[in-house]
Amino acid sequence: MCGIVGYIGYREAYPIVIKGLKRLEYRGYDSAGVMLYDGEELKLCKTKGKVSDLEKKASKAITTNGTIGIGHTRWATHGVPNDVNSHPHLSNSGDLAIIHNGIIENYAPLKEELIKRGYVFHSDTDTEVLVNLIEEVQKKENLKLGKAVQVALNQVVGAYAIAVFDKKNPNEIVAARLGSPLAIGVGEGEYFIASDASPFIEYTSNAIYLEDGEMANIRLHKAMKIRKIKDDSLVDPYIQELQMNLEQIEKGGYDHFMLKEIYEQPNVIKDTYRGRLHANEGIIQMAGVEDNLEKFLNADRIIIVACGTSWHAGLVAEYIFEEFARISVEVEYASEFRYRNPIINSKDVVIAISQSGETADTMAAIKLAKEHGAFVFGVCNVVGSSISRETHAGAYTHAGPEIGVASTKAFTTQITVLTMIALRLAKAKGTLSNSAFHAYLQELEIIPEKVKEALETNEKAKEIASVFKDAPNCLYLGRGYNFPVALEGALKLKEISYIHAEGYPAAEMKHGPIALIDEQMPVVVIAPKQGHYDKIVSNIQEIKSRSGKIIAVVTKGDTQVRELADYVIEIPETSDALSPLITTIPLQLLSYHIAVMRGCNVDQPRNLAKSVTVE
Ligand code: GLU
Repeated sequence: MCGIVGYIGYREAYPIVIKGLKRLEYRGYDSAGVMLYDGEELKLCKTKGKVSDLEKKASKAITTNGTIGIGHTRWATHGVPNDVNSHPHLSNSGDLAIIHNGIIENYAPLKEELIKRGYVFHSDTDTEVLVNLIEEVQKKENLKLGKAVQVALNQVVGAYAIAVFDKKNPNEIVAARLGSPLAIGVGEGEYFIASDASPFIEYTSNAIYLEDGEMANIRLHKAMKIRKIKDDSLVDPYIQELQMNLEQIEKGGYDHFMLKEIYEQPNVIKDTYRGRLHANEGIIQMAGVEDNLEKFLNADRIIIVACGTSWHAGLVAEYIFEEFARISVEVEYASEFRYRNPIINSKDVVIAISQSGETADTMAAIKLAKEHGAFVFGVCNVVGSSISRETHAGAYTHAGPEIGVASTKAFTTQITVLTMIALRLAKAKGTLSNSAFHAYLQELEIIPEKVKEALETNEKAKEIASVFKDAPNCLYLGRGYNFPVALEGALKLKEISYIHAEGYPAAEMKHGPIALIDEQMPVVVIAPKQGHYDKIVSNIQEIKSRSGKIIAVVTKGDTQVRELADYVIEIPETSDALSPLITTIPLQLLSYHIAVMRGCNVDQPRNLAKSVTVE
């Protein structure tokens, strides 16, 4: 994880780097640091804490002028979050400065070797090893920075996106990537380097996304050279026009990104199906699916690999694919799948789901599936991300940038994409009746309106939040399509409010969790009219008999559950299969308000980061 930013050009670098780091803080916020070069001196300021802490420290500690700068916001992997372990790291001579996102796996033997050669280490990071390795190569072989970086990286095992500066040759920044993302903004007489394009969108809409295994020599007043780290071959830079705009990455009047993103859901779900869903004509058209329809239709089974919230979307998809298209589906945690010895064959279709498209474990699972000859389809939000490039085909969710660390709109748009795929396959296979197929298309088209209506539960969610904000535990129950929603609801609460929460299939409760229920225990039950209503009513009775506090999410007009529950949240009616798109909304709002009332940092919860590029 970690966010990296670099600037080389004619403007003051400091404000660009600081603003850029703030936009990348979703990637990590254990510590922050900046290095500036003013033509003579290399100035360094680093601190534990947020970018705002760095700003405070830098205003006292350094002069912040200079037209070259690099900065870092850290999600610690090696070494505790403190000032010393913060990036940038300097080499022993003090000439080289590095920022790094990733992990150098073989740092220990390299460090040992460097210590033997007299190097001294100040931090516990793997990154400080890399910068000294570059220095050692540079000295030993008398190489310029670019070449030394290349030689050093060829000795390294692991993942990295790095930017390196050398005081002895100060008109250049060398950047490289393997496994961690890196974008280069190309302006007139200036370049920007960043983990994603958000730090530079107001300066240029031209970006180059380095491919894995590539490095760039970014030089002032000279054309940039991109080459392969392994064999030194030159690569033609492919400049992309950015689609992102500034408004998308700002809060737009909301107190938090998370709340903004919750409220964006009606619109982004529309963006997700726009041009793909033609309800009146009874057509679903997604290029990645159409071009590979045979692969899907001939598949023995679909294996979904994902992590976190995306894994929950995968679970919803399992129910939908099996119900609609009668294809057997397995849903796997990417981190488990990659390290066991899974049975995969060339008749399997693997669907990899990742908001960022950079999730390291999911990426590794994709590589494994490809090695076994499976067809791999990606469902990502970030255009041009590593996973979108590594997969054979895919469909973007078009949710726009998701900045809040707790995923909301990514979840609902992933479900939208997966539902459309399942419907398309159902049509091709004839596994849904014509009338059911058309009814689902019509319903999906009006889902954004229903999501909007579900957002009206905000006040109710706030009221319930004020009652339960101090609860130490919380149970979430759902059945069928809403079992994964229960898991997701519990995850949201854990992530941002630090309340221990468990999601369970409602009927499983009596096999264990029911022992937890007493009059202190809030139990959120997802109980829409469609689905296994009568069964869940019985489960609610069981909780009530044990004095649990019931918060029920019910369909508008429900009377039966209302009589039993302590609190009800009413949502609009929809079909069972599409209900996760609606039932999840009040649960997002509930966690949001509880976290706000507990004084938690909603957008940047402790220990987490958005894009998990380490395994
Ligand atoms: N391994 C580096 C550190 O711990 C970078 C961490 C990261 O990219 O998440 O400082």
